Amino acid sequence: MLAITTILFGLFGLLVGSFLNLCIDRLPGGKSIVRPGSHCDSCNQSLKAIDLVPVFSYIWLRGRCRYCGARIPLRSPIVEFATAAIFAFLAWHYGLSLELAFAVVYAAIFIVIFAIDLEQELILNIVVFPAMILAFAFSFFWGGFEEFWPRIGPGFVLSALLGGAVGFVLMLLPYLLTRGRGMGYGDVKLAALIGLMSGFPLVLVALLVGIIAGGLVAVFLLLSRMVKSRKAAIPYGPFLAAGAMVALIWGDKIFQWWWATGSG
Ligand SMILES: [Zn+2]
Repeated sequence: MLAITTILFGLFGLLVGSFLNLCIDRLPGGKSIVRPGSHCDSCNQSLKAIDLVPVFSYIWLRGRCRYCGARIPLRSPIVEFATAAIFAFLAWHYGLSLELAFAVVYAAIFIVIFAIDLEQELILNIVVFPAMILAFAFSFFWGGFEEFWPRIGPGFVLSALLGGAVGFVLMLLPYLLTRGRGMGYGDVKLAALIGLMSGFPLVLVALLVGIIAGGLVAVFLLLSRMVKSRKAAIPYGPFLAAGAMVALIWGDKIFQWWWATGSG
């Protein structure tokens, strides 16, 4: 049963990934994600179902538009494959459950935030604000850390609101101290969203994992001279989004380990 759920969610993830590509393409330009239907951005030819088979059509067409030969960005199959892999993993991790439903929605939101921030260095209000409302609504049913809060709705809502406030304040301080040069205000809003999703205290795990991962990659890029100076900013959003996913899935275990280590 678990194997079937995992495979089905993997296939579902391929289709969702295809839709997420559309969101990543269109949302930064303020375009509708409903109309017009999928088309080639170079020749405007509307695409048929056979052109839209996730990952496989990219391979068949060797990364080019069937009609005009324009390159299809490699990001398309990567997002489709990553969404499928993450959805399959979540299905295997949670099994068929309410938690799985919430987790795949959060994963989809984080994939969009990750890709848009990496490509455009933007964290869009049109993604973050609706996601905040969704996270607040979900918190009536799901809290990240069940041992820490009573297993009832109000405990989780309190956890989410506290998490959102802590995330906001923790990222607002460095934002104000660096006068916005170290990180953008988008990162502050993203931290508030992550807090709402993961709750308190898992928001601490999420931000710490994100900041450590971002720091390690920055050091690696500087050492390998892939970026010239520390001024060439690396967007923090993708790391925060990845940290949030880690905290949602393993945050309770990480926090308990951390707590046990800290208190000897
Ligand atoms: Zn074309």
